[in-house]
Amino acid sequence: MQIPIHPFVLSIMGTLERAGYRAYVVGGSIRDLILGREPNDWDVATDATPSVVRALFERTVPTGEKYGTVTVLGEMPVEVTTFRKDGRYLDGRRPESVEFSSTIEEDLVRRDFTINALAADRVGNVLDFVNGLEDLRNRLVRCVGDPGERFREDALRMLRAHRLVAELGQGFRIEPRTLQAITENAHLILQVSWERIRDELVRILMSESPGVLRDLYDSRLLEYILPELADCYGFKQWNRHHDKDVFEHTIAAVESSPKKLRVRLAALLHDVGKAETFSLGPDGEGHFYGHSVKSAEMAEEVLKRLRFDSHTVSSVCTLIREHMTRHSRMGPKGLKRLIARVGKDLIHELLDLQMADVKASGHPGDLSEVLRLKEGVEGILASGDPITVKDLAVKGADLIEWGMEEGKEIGDVLKAMLDRVLEDPSLNTKERLRGIFEELRGETKRETGIGGSM
Ligand code: ATP
Ligand code: MG
Repeated sequence: MQIPIHPFVLSIMGTLERAGYRAYVVGGSIRDLILGREPNDWDVATDATPSVVRALFERTVPTGEKYGTVTVLGEMPVEVTTFRKDGRYLDGRRPESVEFSSTIEEDLVRRDFTINALAADRVGNVLDFVNGLEDLRNRLVRCVGDPGERFREDALRMLRAHRLVAELGQGFRIEPRTLQAITENAHLILQVSWERIRDELVRILMSESPGVLRDLYDSRLLEYILPELADCYGFKQWNRHHDKDVFEHTIAAVESSPKKLRVRLAALLHDVGKAETFSLGPDGEGHFYGHSVKSAEMAEEVLKRLRFDSHTVSSVCTLIREHMTRHSRMGPKGLKRLIARVGKDLIHELLDLQMADVKASGHPGDLSEVLRLKEGVEGILASGDPITVKDLAVKGADLIEWGMEEGKEIGDVLKAMLDRVLEDPSLNTKERLRGIFEELRGETKRETGIGGSM
């Protein structure tokens, strides 16, 4: 078998070998090369200790010296890790201790799945102690050793199994005994940090096959990591616009979304509030009044729990809150307000989400309303018409110059000006805004009988 190892990786292996050590490419890169995929990264395993590795190469970073890992820098960063056998796992997360080993075999059998437990030497000989090549041919993700034991050592492996299926595509599936062990140990996933869970979930969402989320339901992992979504399973909608239950519709919406994280996260959570807002009308139709707001509230909790950064949380929640805002209910002013609420940088992702939502519903193809919204939004963006207070031809400082005192009222006046400018963009000159200012000042005086700060 010809294994096309990257020349820079070969040169690292050469340096180690010339110094009297052994070196192999290990892990996902061998798996990917055999499958004809571009490896994400390259991992080298060696019997040289971290201090030796650091001495042999000019530019290194001690990325995880406790675990035996030194990153060698060059054309790209390559992780060079000393052969290891893991100590006992006590908490289902990390080995209590790691012990270096002198054999590549021990290093390979501690790995999670047979297809990840392959190694290759510099001339391309593949080492396979666990029938990884056969599983690779049969497209099977199978634990090395007893699956229950391996998941009890590190519960994240259960999610990694699904993630591999999602990323590798090509008909990969989890081998039945391994899958059975996930179902039995699913609850252990809660021992794993939310950050690690999030990273795997993101990779599933951003893969070619996010429909693997259905498998997460079947293997029971979903009820622990996203109970809100698991609750949507089988929830009938009683609605002629929907031919699927809420869960199936949700997964279809994710599958119909472009590969943008915020859009896919929003698609994943856009309807989680449906169960709580459901009502059956007298006509026998199901309704979900206010479900966008409810879903956005629940999504905020979910995303915070998964330790997403606050910018991602607020963007995704905005998308969800506005996912039902349609064009037929808005004139140009309403459209501008929508763009202002969502933000110019996010508005196209709202259109992506709405498009995916429609495609995943009962009448796919009827994108006319979303397309009209897209046209309206693009027209406004192209016109350069003012949309937010920041676009006004006057600033707070101008109002102070015109006699207002600093304070909250400044913002109120700017908003009142914007309201007029949204209707008539030609009002957005300093001169005409001054006119509006005087008008507003007159109104306030009449209403309060005093000048106030206005
Ligand atoms: P990719 O680089 O595409 O994410 P990968 O399989 O290389 O895939 P890494 O996270 O880079 O995954 O890990 C490198 C190797 O380390 C894996 O192939 C596997 O052999 C081993 N490994 C990673 N995580 C675990 C784990 N939780 N338990 C056991 N072995 C693991
Ligand atoms: Mg890797």
